[in-house]
Amino acid sequence: MSKRIVILGAGESGTGAGVLAKKYMYDVFVSDFGNIKEKYIKILDKYKIEYETGKHSEELILNANEVIKSPGIPDDSDIVKKLRNKNIKIISEIEFAGRYTKAKKICITGSNGKTTTTMLIYHIFKKAGLNVALAGNVGKSFALQVAENNYDYYIIELSSFQLDGMYDFKADIAVILNITPDHLDRYNYDFNKYVDSKFRIIRNQTEEEKFIYWSDDKQITKEINKRCIKSELFPFSGKNICKKGAFIKNETINIIIKEKILTIKKSEMSLLGTHNAYNSMAAVITSKLNRIQNHIIKESILDFENVPHRLEKYISIKGIQFINDSKATNINSTWYALQSIGTKIVLILGGVDKGNDYSIIKKIVDKKVKAIVCLGKDNSRIFETFGNDTKLFETKSMQKAVNIAYKYANAGDTVLLSPACASFDLFENYEDRGNKLKKAVMKIENKKTRKKFGV
Ligand code: ADP
Repeated sequence: MSKRIVILGAGESGTGAGVLAKKYMYDVFVSDFGNIKEKYIKILDKYKIEYETGKHSEELILNANEVIKSPGIPDDSDIVKKLRNKNIKIISEIEFAGRYTKAKKICITGSNGKTTTTMLIYHIFKKAGLNVALAGNVGKSFALQVAENNYDYYIIELSSFQLDGMYDFKADIAVILNITPDHLDRYNYDFNKYVDSKFRIIRNQTEEEKFIYWSDDKQITKEINKRCIKSELFPFSGKNICKKGAFIKNETINIIIKEKILTIKKSEMSLLGTHNAYNSMAAVITSKLNRIQNHIIKESILDFENVPHRLEKYISIKGIQFINDSKATNINSTWYALQSIGTKIVLILGGVDKGNDYSIIKKIVDKKVKAIVCLGKDNSRIFETFGNDTKLFETKSMQKAVNIAYKYANAGDTVLLSPACASFDLFENYEDRGNKLKKAVMKIENKKTRKKFGV
C-alpha cells in the first residue's frame, strides 16, 4: 500500500503539495476546515485529488503516515494536537517539495524585508537570464512548481511558520535579515522560540553552504556566537567594515566576495531608506555568490520597482504626501518607515496588535509625528503609550482616518499609513487595507478636482 499523505489547508501551499504528492503516487487526502477557493478546487479536481471542505474528518486524517500542514494553521489547533499525540510527523510544504528537486535553493527569512529582498534577488537573477522561480510566501507554491517545472534556482521567502515544519531541508544560501519580536502570539510569547524558529533556516548546512546575515543585529550575532555553525558566513553591516560580505561607508554599499569589491552608491538605488540598503546588501551578496556580473547587478538595483504596500509613495494632495506602508505589521517596520521620512508626519496606526512594545517608537514619534490616527478596534495600548504627549484621534473607518489626517496635516507634511499591526480586525488583509487607503485618498483628490471644475 502506498504511503498516506494528508494535507491540512487547501490554499496555495496545500494544493501545490497535493499535486506533487499525487505525482509521486502517494495516497493523498486534502482537508480544509474553511472554504476552499474555486481556483484550488479546480486544481484538485484536475489532478483527481480527494479532498474535504468545512471540516476535518479525523478518521481520514489520523491514519496518515505524514501530514503537510499549511503555515496558517496554529500548533494549538485541535487537529494538530491530536496528530502530535499519535506521533504523526507534521512537515511544511517547503520540506516536502525540497525532497524532489535538485535546484539551488536560496532562502530568505527575517522579521521584516523578506518579500522586498526575495523579489529583488529574483529580479537580479531574471535579468541575468537564469532559469529561476519565486516560491514560499510569494509567487506560486514551491511544490506545484517542482511538480510542473524544471527550474535551476528557487528564491524562497520563508516565514517562521514554514521553518517550523522543516527538518531535512537544506538551503544552499540562507539569509536572515533581522530578528525582532513578531508573531509572539504563536510562540507562547517566548521570543527565544521565535528566534530558534528563524535559525532553522541554516539547519543541515555544511561548510559548502552559505549563510548571509545582518551583523548589526545583536540577537543574530548572539545566536551565531552561541551555536556551532558550519556554514560559510557572509555578514552585512551598516557600520562595521568586513573582509567578506558587505558594509556601508560614505553612503556607498561595498560588497566583497572572493576578495573582489563591488561598490554601489546608495543614491543610485531605486529603493528608499536605510533598511532597504540592508536588503540590497543581502541581495547583492547572493548575486555575487552566484557569479552574476556587476553591470547586471547595478542595472537591477537601479530599476527595481518595490512591491506595493511597502513604503509606497502614493499621490500628493496640496503638498501633503500620502505613503502606503500597510505591510508594516510590526513595530520595527513602522520605526524604519518613520526614520525614512524627512518631514512632519500624521501617522495612521493600529489594528490587531501581536504583542507590540510601542515604547520602541516613542522617541521618534515625539520627534516627528504631529498626530496619530488610531485605526483599530482596540486602541488602548496606543493611548497608554502616546496619550500624554501626542494628539490622538480614533476611528474604525479608513475614509474617516484619511479625512482626519488630511485635515490635520499641512503642506509639506506626510500622511503615513504604517500600522505596526495586523489588519484583520477591520480589513481582509494588509492589501485590502492599503487599497482602501488609496481609495480614500482618491476620494479627497476627486472632490478637490470636482470643486476646481465646479461639477
Ligand atoms: P516581510 O515580507 O518580511 O513582511 P516586506 O518586504 O514585505 O517584509 O516589508 C514589510 C515592512 O517592513 C514594510 O513596511 C517595509 O517598509 C519594512 N521593511 C522592509 N525591509 C526592512 C528591514 N530590513 N528592516 C525593517 N523594516 C523593513
